Amino acid sequence: MFQKSQSKSIQAVKWVSMLTLLVALSGCVSVMSQESTVSNASAQSVVQSAGWSNNVSISFNGDTMTIQSNGVPSHETLDFYAIGNRVINNPTSAQNYSYTLPLQPQLAVTPTNAGAGIIGIAISGAAFFNPYEGDQVTYALEDNFEVNGAPFIDACNGHATPNNGMYHYHGIPYCITDAVDSSGQHSKLVGYLLDGFSIYGPQDVGGGTPTNLDACNGHFGSTPEFPEGIYHYHTSEARPYVPTCYSGEITITQRPPRR
Ligand SMILES: [Zn+2]
Ligand SMILES: [Zn+2]
Repeated sequence: MFQKSQSKSIQAVKWVSMLTLLVALSGCVSVMSQESTVSNASAQSVVQSAGWSNNVSISFNGDTMTIQSNGVPSHETLDFYAIGNRVINNPTSAQNYSYTLPLQPQLAVTPTNAGAGIIGIAISGAAFFNPYEGDQVTYALEDNFEVNGAPFIDACNGHATPNNGMYHYHGIPYCITDAVDSSGQHSKLVGYLLDGFSIYGPQDVGGGTPTNLDACNGHFGSTPEFPEGIYHYHTSEARPYVPTCYSGEITITQRPPRR
């Protein structure tokens, strides 16, 4: 009797481990099809050929890259911006950004809210912020206004924080995408979010608008830099304009201190 029940429980253990193995294998396959299988070397060459402006320096160390920038966009900014009911001199000032990101980012099981402040760095050297104003509810682009001809947000979809001069985009960085994108084609890479995944202008393969963006405004697909397909973010004409969350794993050291 004892023998029999023991052998039954061994059988059960065998079945459970078979099932576990199958689940693990199928998980592995689906992860591989959704994630970058590019080598560090090819990821590195994409980063290097991304058209960074002169105020940005990139270095590589094993599985990571470090992006350093003074944060001042390489394109024009305005002399005056509106804030509240006032006009202020352009507050854009030099920063000391340094972010170390994975060359081969991994998708996380659940997205991480990006929160306020810097969420990424553009090839212009300036920052991406989430789409919201300081209240973290109002879409900045939908609340644009002018005071005596000075806009809250400029034609590049950016402006600087009035207190510390951090120039940042709240939407498609038109002053970059107008220079790098071609009609009828998927947008070109315009920067990286702090989880290490790349971000693009608004155009999908064929030049249309992507229809399968996830909650973080990203999808898996072919891009000019990664024709085999890779997970990447888009900036978009419609909400949310820029990502509000990270799809990738992100460690606390990759994220900036709250300002
Ligand atoms: Zn802003
Ligand atoms: Zn895309």
